[in-house]
Amino acid sequence: MSDEYLCFFTSREPIGNLAFHVGDDIQRVNKNHLLLSQKLAYEQEHLVHMKQIHSNIVHVVTDEDGFSSPPTCDALVTNKKNTPLMVMVADCTPVLFYDSTCEVPFGCKAIGVAHVGREGAFSNIVKNVLKTMEQEYGSCAKDIFIEIGSSIGVCCYEVGQEIYDKAQPFHYAFTKGDTSYYLDVNKIILTQLKECGIKEENIKNEGVCTACNTKNYFSYRKEGKTGRFAGILMIRD
Ligand SMILES: [Zn+2]
Repeated sequence: MSDEYLCFFTSREPIGNLAFHVGDDIQRVNKNHLLLSQKLAYEQEHLVHMKQIHSNIVHVVTDEDGFSSPPTCDALVTNKKNTPLMVMVADCTPVLFYDSTCEVPFGCKAIGVAHVGREGAFSNIVKNVLKTMEQEYGSCAKDIFIEIGSSIGVCCYEVGQEIYDKAQPFHYAFTKGDTSYYLDVNKIILTQLKECGIKEENIKNEGVCTACNTKNYFSYRKEGKTGRFAGILMIRD
């Protein structure tokens, strides 16, 4: 990661929950956002987050988007400087995309963030992000770097027969248990990224299993009602 980008994953402490929709006190969530913006030195009102709906919808950031007006989607892309993009998670995988070598005639940098749970993986949201970066900013997959944050691991992601049955193209990512299956969402994401032309050496996956590490991360599966941590990416001025 070069100095041209801000790239960061929060954890349970010291920032805490960043989501407004999980029943947490609104003032406290706002305070957490303020603390994070101070720590990472960006303007809070410039931050774009999302109303995430487990879709494969990619939104190109516009001037109308901002902290108080999050678009409904599961991925964001932009080439605007000093505009942090945020994906919030508690078991789903936060995937960050950045391109520092966009080709002429576009000559610009671009970034993207995606919220990838089971549905996002099955509907290949990462491909949509890469396609949108290509169309909007002239990005090439071979120049794009990926950072993957913590998410639920195959160790803890138990699913029933009905999920297995409807996910035929992804059976390579399932492990059979005694009475159920275990799903490796990141295995699907990594396969899709490589199919899109992302180089293996450009993928950094520092993630650990959120359900095994609730001391450091929020886990919806493990805890039920809980907070959200976040991945943040911004092009610096
Ligand atoms: Zn685990």
